[in-house]
Amino acid sequence: MGKTSKDKRDIYYRLAKEEGWRARSAFKLLHIDDTFGIFDGVHRAVDLCAAPGSWSQVLSKKLFRSCLTDDEKLAVKIIAVDLQAMAPLQGVVQIQGDITKESTAEAIIQHFSSDTHLKAQLVVCDGAPDVTGVHEMDEYMQNQLIVSALSIATFVLEPGGKFVAKIFKGNDNCLLESQMRAFFTNFRIYKPPSSRSSSIEAFVVCSGFHLPAGYIPQIINPARDDIRSLSLRTGSATNRRLIPFIACGDLNGAIDDDTANLDNDISLEDIEMTYDAIMGESDSTEDFKLLLNDVFLQEIALRKLQIAEK
Ligand code: SAM
Repeated sequence: MGKTSKDKRDIYYRLAKEEGWRARSAFKLLHIDDTFGIFDGVHRAVDLCAAPGSWSQVLSKKLFRSCLTDDEKLAVKIIAVDLQAMAPLQGVVQIQGDITKESTAEAIIQHFSSDTHLKAQLVVCDGAPDVTGVHEMDEYMQNQLIVSALSIATFVLEPGGKFVAKIFKGNDNCLLESQMRAFFTNFRIYKPPSSRSSSIEAFVVCSGFHLPAGYIPQIINPARDDIRSLSLRTGSATNRRLIPFIACGDLNGAIDDDTANLDNDISLEDIEMTYDAIMGESDSTEDFKLLLNDVFLQEIALRKLQIAEK
């Protein structure tokens, strides 16, 4: 049975048609709002990976409808971004681009960067790479989108802001959670009823945004950036420890690759330097826990021990 006939049986597919949503995904965001009230008090939002635009439709409807005056309506800002072009939507500014690229991130940040531009209160990302069917690879690609979405959020979100992003449920979402909790006071993983039970997708729903002490926002291109270079670029060891390792996917999929890279690419000097850069600044138990959670750093710590034993 083809995809089309399956979709036609789906209640949310039919409802989307009836109610004029561009995709059935609209109901996922609506269900997330029903459960977490993500639109409460929100006037400025960024919709990453937005095409064909049903989440932007929801944002537009919710953010404009809550306005009582024309001035409030003028203050509404919705920035929608996707690789693909999208049919125009009233009140939504569109940027066509790849969210993992620096130029796209800069174009988004520009809308929230000067004194006259207030920061965003909500960033949502429903990004999905082309699925290969190889779970580890799909999860890795999905995580790259989350890394990019989170790095953009660190620039554009106001303190206390909210973040919603699609994830692929892996065997160990604890890694993702430990990193997200560094940036958000509240973290939940939620699967809305409109998300097909056969799909491994779920959504992280975070609120209470804050920058961790010592973290300097930086645009991260997961495909380009060597994770060792991230702290060197900003001069902050906290940057090295946070965000990038989400790009490793879950432990099952990525640990071998990381270990292989270490064998080939990292010199003794690199190991010493990275270890000292991280642990030199850290004496808290919390930092040590993060170190232990990081596959790459675990390997460095192991190497350090092996070197010491020789
Ligand atoms: N939320 C959308 C809606 O309700 O209409 C549906 C989003 S669709 C599931 C996933 C989107 O992610 C696709 O439109 C795809 O072009 C976009 N995407 C995937 N990788 C991207 C990237 N690197 N940068 C920007 N968009 C990307």
